[in-house]
Amino acid sequence: MKIICVGRNYADHVKELNNEIPEDPVIFLKPDTAKIHDGDTFYIPSFTNDVHYEAELVVRISKVGKHIQPKFAHKYYDQISVGIDFTARDIQQKLKEKGLPWEKAKAFDGSAAVGKMVNFREMNWDVQNLTFRLNVNGKERQKGHTGQMMRSVDELIAYISTFITLKVGDLIYTGTPAGVGKVEPGDEISVFLQDDAMLNVIVK
Ligand code: MG
Repeated sequence: MKIICVGRNYADHVKELNNEIPEDPVIFLKPDTAKIHDGDTFYIPSFTNDVHYEAELVVRISKVGKHIQPKFAHKYYDQISVGIDFTARDIQQKLKEKGLPWEKAKAFDGSAAVGKMVNFREMNWDVQNLTFRLNVNGKERQKGHTGQMMRSVDELIAYISTFITLKVGDLIYTGTPAGVGKVEPGDEISVFLQDDAMLNVIVK
């Protein structure tokens, strides 16, 4: 499986990092070795002093697809969750300044936490009308609404599948809203979808 992440999909987060609103979606990949799950420990890598959490809606691909049209994209996923796109912001900043790829800042071991999956249709949820939030040590630090995405899940799937074949089990991280911040050893991070706790990780 592979992990495909979307950057700069919420205008308020683009502003908080002083980035430009992209004409086309920004996409990047994480390897399967990046994935950790609910209940796991996230270890801050030794090469960074500034790892940020980014809470995101995560969509799991349920059918192989290439060149998927937006109107058919909903047929290619049924399970969703929330996840954390852990980012070594100090490393990313240096790479961005040089125009280099982001992998060292984004694709390291443990950098893709993913929560328990839920069938959103069985829950009668509209994927573009969901709230999610991230707490650090019980305090709310980040909150988003999927209606604020600049590109909807269906548009993202269509866009990504023009470049990359999507396979069953692939995960798409759909971008983070404003409120990203640094993690510290000992932090307990919890991510909620609607009011359901989906993901809990301890930082070491
Ligand atoms: Mg992100």
